[in-house]
Amino acid sequence: MQKTVFKKLLLIGLFFYLPFQTMAWGVIGHRVVGEIADKYLNTTARAKILKILGIESVAMVSNWADFIKSDSSFKHLDSWHYINLDSGLSHKDVLDYLNKDTAVDLYTRTSFLVKELKKKNLPNDKKAFFLKLLIHFVGDIHQPMHVGGKSDLGGNTIRVSWFNEPSNLHRMWDEHLIEFQQLSYTEYTRAINHPNAALKKKWQAENMNEWLYQSYEIGQQLRTEIKQPNQRLSYQYNFNHIATLNRRLLQAGVRLATLLNEIFSK
Ligand SMILES: [Zn+2]
Repeated sequence: MQKTVFKKLLLIGLFFYLPFQTMAWGVIGHRVVGEIADKYLNTTARAKILKILGIESVAMVSNWADFIKSDSSFKHLDSWHYINLDSGLSHKDVLDYLNKDTAVDLYTRTSFLVKELKKKNLPNDKKAFFLKLLIHFVGDIHQPMHVGGKSDLGGNTIRVSWFNEPSNLHRMWDEHLIEFQQLSYTEYTRAINHPNAALKKKWQAENMNEWLYQSYEIGQQLRTEIKQPNQRLSYQYNFNHIATLNRRLLQAGVRLATLLNEIFSK
């Protein structure tokens, strides 16, 4: 009898231990991007966004596009979170591909959202829907594992172990590295939101195609570092990559603000 109870408890325990569905930058990462963006909104854009989102902040709506994955009526939005690209492409190859891209993916859908949100006569409910999606997807564009990875499902099939937990390269960049810092999203924002003025200007001047290429390039490099299945990653991996991770979060926040200022200032 006791044995059966023990077995049941073990099963319940295992169930909760199983990794949750991959969430793209994870909850904290997206909120950091939203919170940083919020700091750089101009007065007009902030007022318009407040009118659209109501009491919800940019940070707090940033995960909505992941949360709605639980509702099957939003299933058609799944492919909006990433873009498939072959490996080994040059800068020119990637830009050429983007120029001709007609797939329903992170690039074409984000471009679509920007265009729609610039329309003056967009109904309010649609405006709120599209704005929440845009806030999320600018984050996803900066997550290296969301750009490329046609043959390995964005790094999901690249098995690694994070300390002793079985995982994959995609989750490393969605969650593990960010969670390892043990910061709330507001603490994280305070810690990294100090862009060098010249760099900030450069990041703001680059267009979405460049944001995507930068993620692609980082993602290609990250794949070459995994030499064997279930490679154990731990302190050294964090030490080697924390600067890249923080730069991508900061760039995403700064660029999201620039984009929102452009959309909502007129
Ligand atoms: Zn996503």
